[in-house]
Amino acid sequence: MKIIIVGASFAGMSAALECHQIYPEAQIVLMDKEKEVGFFPNVFNWQLKGELKQIEEARSELWGQVQQTRIDVRLETRFVRLDADNQVLIVEQGEQVLEEAYDVLILAMGAKQVWEVEDKALHERILSSKYFLDAQKSWEKIRAAQSVIIIGGGQIGLESADALSQLPLSLTLFEAETTPLAKYVDADLMAGIEEELKKRQIDVHTAEIVENISLSPSGNKVQVDTLKGSYEADYLLLATNFQPNTDIVGGILECNPDKTIIVDDYLETSQPNIFAIGDLIQLPFAFFGKAYLPLINHAILTGRLVAYNLLKKRRPLQEVQRIVSSHLFGYNITSVGLTERQAQLWTDVDTVVLQAPFSQWEIDELTFKLIVQKSDGRLLGGQLISTSRYIHQMNILSLAISNGMTAQDMVEQSWLCLPRYTNLVPIVAEACQLYLHRQEEESAHED
Ligand SMILES: Cc1cc2nc3c(=O)[nH]c(=O)nc-3n(C[C@H](O)[C@H](O)[C@H](O)COP(=O)(O)OP(=O)(O)OC[C@H]3O[C@@H](n4cnc5c(N)ncnc54)[C@H](O)[C@@H]3O)c2cc1C
Repeated sequence: MKIIIVGASFAGMSAALECHQIYPEAQIVLMDKEKEVGFFPNVFNWQLKGELKQIEEARSELWGQVQQTRIDVRLETRFVRLDADNQVLIVEQGEQVLEEAYDVLILAMGAKQVWEVEDKALHERILSSKYFLDAQKSWEKIRAAQSVIIIGGGQIGLESADALSQLPLSLTLFEAETTPLAKYVDADLMAGIEEELKKRQIDVHTAEIVENISLSPSGNKVQVDTLKGSYEADYLLLATNFQPNTDIVGGILECNPDKTIIVDDYLETSQPNIFAIGDLIQLPFAFFGKAYLPLINHAILTGRLVAYNLLKKRRPLQEVQRIVSSHLFGYNITSVGLTERQAQLWTDVDTVVLQAPFSQWEIDELTFKLIVQKSDGRLLGGQLISTSRYIHQMNILSLAISNGMTAQDMVEQSWLCLPRYTNLVPIVAEACQLYLHRQEEESAHED
């Protein structure tokens, strides 16, 4: 069996490694258009913050694992056309155009930034960091810069703002929502971060949508137009939504309106023997049915899963929990499941907010918000913002949400095992307890 995997990043490398385990006799080809692969997309920010002693620290360990196998890795090899009827890929390697037959094709081409810029001179004014070589070019450009505009105040935009604010730069950030990080963190928890943005003199424009990007009249700056004004800077950093790289297969494989490839529960596309994974697809997500959740852990999950389904449909996709974690402006921020605002679109919700410092927990600063369904106390989501690291708490919450647990279940479970009898701070259980007390008080009051 010959398995071709297009895209040697988190999804593609995971798929290749799993296929190598399950089908030791198979010929596995892992191809990528880039010369350097396997780097985390945050490499540019880590470099800016001086967090890397060696650049290799920014490369996923999956790459090292791939290199220890017989997987046939072909870099600087671009997939340009698909002949699904004859099970053939057309690829470019330098000047050469080659045909590659496959028995199974796994597509893992990832996503790109939505804003397409054709003008070459304007392109030069954009800082790009998704691929390693682009990140290195951006790193060179930023040394001579005095001002940068960031479009998008989500996780990527704020991480970039945090990193760039270490340099003597004038920074402007545009965000269409009324608060930054709105997809992951409710507005009532953002005070600390907003304060930090002010302290670092980052000019934040919320509820302001960028309409146009062009070169400034002088030709040596980038100009950004919104309905409220025009702004100029030396460079522009796009941190907006992603769009899957599906142009090549658009007419051949069935796609959703957002350009994700439609796959069945076993990750197979509308064409037999062609599978799609990672940032190319939507995933089953509580309440939403399906949602586009482009994250590294989802790329790895689908990459591993697909390998089991190549010959026989064995392991279906399960509903995923979105868990997003960032270190921003000195705070660790983790968001799991739905925010209050998202949950309100589907059901009636209640929330509990815990705030520290708590002397008994020896925590510097912490805010935790729990979101539950009003009718039955089912856990829907949580957000944790802390100067200490408590991601394990959120993993517990994520598991609880996936298992459909209620606040009552959570409190009972925590009596039995985690985390009360360990040295973990029982934030999630504590919030559930508080919620149940409040419910009891409210029903006593009604009686
Ligand atoms: C700046 C930035 C920061 C991010 N930070 C985080 C974070 O903190 N946490 C998190 O979970 N996620 C983060 N993400 C999202 C994360 O990068 C993606 O979800 C993840 O990389 C998806 O993995 P993938 O393997 O599906 O696709 P990708 O990583 O996009 O890889 C796709 C690969 O396919 C190759 N390819 C594309 N087209 C072709 C072609 N025609 N021929 C050959 N090869 C091709 C590309 O070169 C690439 O190597 C961030 C993204 C960006 C841009």
